[in-house]
Formats: sequence, structure tokens, C-alpha cells
Amino acid sequence: MFILAVAAVIVVAGLAYGCGGEEQAVEGKLTQCDLTREEERVIVDKGTETPFSGEYYDHFEEGIYVCKRCDTPLFRSTDKFDGGCGWPSFDDAIKGAVRRAPDSDGSRTEILCENCGAHLGHVFTGEGFTPKDTRHCVNSISLKFIPAEEAGNYEKVVLGGGCFWSIEAVFDGVEGVIEATSGYAGGTTVNPSYEEVSGENTGHAEVVLVEYDPRKVSLEELLDTFLAAHDPTSRDRQGSDVGTQYRSVILYNSQDQKALIETYIDGAGGDYEKPIVTEVEKLDSFFPAEDYHQNYYENNPNKPYCQTVIAPKVEKAKQESD
Ligand SMILES: [Zn+2]
Repeated sequence: MFILAVAAVIVVAGLAYGCGGEEQAVEGKLTQCDLTREEERVIVDKGTETPFSGEYYDHFEEGIYVCKRCDTPLFRSTDKFDGGCGWPSFDDAIKGAVRRAPDSDGSRTEILCENCGAHLGHVFTGEGFTPKDTRHCVNSISLKFIPAEEAGNYEKVVLGGGCFWSIEAVFDGVEGVIEATSGYAGGTTVNPSYEEVSGENTGHAEVVLVEYDPRKVSLEELLDTFLAAHDPTSRDRQGSDVGTQYRSVILYNSQDQKALIETYIDGAGGDYEKPIVTEVEKLDSFFPAEDYHQNYYENNPNKPYCQTVIAPKVEKAKQESD
């Protein structure tokens, strides 16, 4: 009897801490009860793992880092750098995934998983490590790494509907969108600059690469948002932005996407008085725009263009998705 009791305690201690081992994972997600003692110390009690002790501080494989507790994608390997501090360092986070809050120490800024509130670490700025000048200093133990091959469940589509600042801002707020990146596509010039694209000699349009989780948002829903965010019956012009770089265009990257997009556009035609002029093309290459174009709305909320042109579009998209 004594031996059995000891064995049971050891099993419980090995599986979980704090719940007596009675509660199970809910719908395959880890609950607080599934955390080990050390995970709970950091994730729940906001502790800090010993520097140079974690699994990921010198880990540089391609993939994404998700929340240990709820599996929400938080950081990408492309934003990871060696901060030399003994903890994983990222100069950016997946949009909307990481929340900032004043730390209880009164000086630092804590970062938490927006979805489940798991403590991740702290964020620092002004250190000059990378052009983004931001270091998300994260405990390895708050994270789980998913290699790119396994994270390949995400899909991509490239959308052009006038100034990319607007389209990116709209898609930043869409649930299921992992990342929206402003850039250039549909033309021939390799690595074009904004000035070259503005000169209309590159053939490129201002576009946004939308990476999304098809389990959370469908391509049709993204196209609903896209059409609502611009006028698809206006050729080479959105408002005061005029030129072929502002054309309405969807660039697909598979035959399945092509068929779905063409059927969708045919079906949407009845909603407009004028014909839809949105071009549907195969994506050849996407070139990310210069850094100052990324997150433009988020970084320049007080600029007149953001207030008068972008803000109403973001608001409209929000209302339509509710
Ligand atoms: Zn979480």
C-alpha cells in the first residue's frame, strides 16, 4: 500500500504541478494544470529562467515560436537575433499576438501572450541591436518551436488595392492573419525601390503579402475584406492615388487559389454597378517594401493620410467582421 501511494505521488509530480494531476488538457490545449513546476514559475508567476539555460537562446532554425500554454504563434525565426543576453531575442512579434504591460517593478515593460496572458518576458527599445531597435527578451520556457516544415500549414495570397499602407493596416486586424507585409509584385524589376515603383516603369503594383491560417480564416473571407477595403471597379486609381502601381490585383500562388478567386470575383460582380476590374495573376515574386512602409498606420497614427484615408477603412473592416 505504501509503495503504491509513493508511486502515485511520483507520477502526479512528473505530469503536472498545482492541480493534483486530476485535470486533463482541454481540447488538446495545455491548461495551466499541464505546466511543469518550472513552467508555472515563469509563465504564471512571472519568473525568469536562468540566462543561457533555456532551449532557444542560441537556436536559429527556420520556423515559428508559439506560446507554450496555448499554441498561439508569437514570434518568427526571421525576427530572431543574437542579443548576447542568454535569452531568445526577437526584434518583432507576430502582429496582435503579444501584449505589452507595465511591469510590477515600475520600470520595465512586460510582454504577455495576448491570447492566454502567459508571461513571456520583457521588451526593450533603444539598444540599437537591429534597425527595428526593439528587443523582445523572452524566456525559452514560455515558447515552443515549430519548424518551418511543420508550420507549413499557413497559406499566402498577395493583394493590391491602392496604397499598401491601407491594405496592410486592414489585414493586420483580421483574425487568422499571421502577418501582413507591404511590398511590390506583378512587375519585372527585381528588388524595386518605392521611387522606382512610383515612376511606373517597373510594372509592379503596391501590394500586401497576407500570410494566414486557413483553419481560422478562409480565402473567401479575406477576399470579402479585400473588396470592402478598396473600390475594385476603379482602374489604376483609389481616391487621390492614381497610377498603375495602385491597380486592383490579386496574385495567387496555386491553381486551387486561382480557381477559387476567379469564381469569387464572378460571384461578387453582381454587388457592383460597374464591372470589377481586379486583375487575377500568378504570383511570380514578392519584394518586401522598405522598412518605413511596414506598419505605417500603426507607426504614424497622427499623419493626415492615416486619419482621413486609412482609419475609416480599418474601422469599416472591423465592423464587417463583427
Ligand atoms: Zn498563450
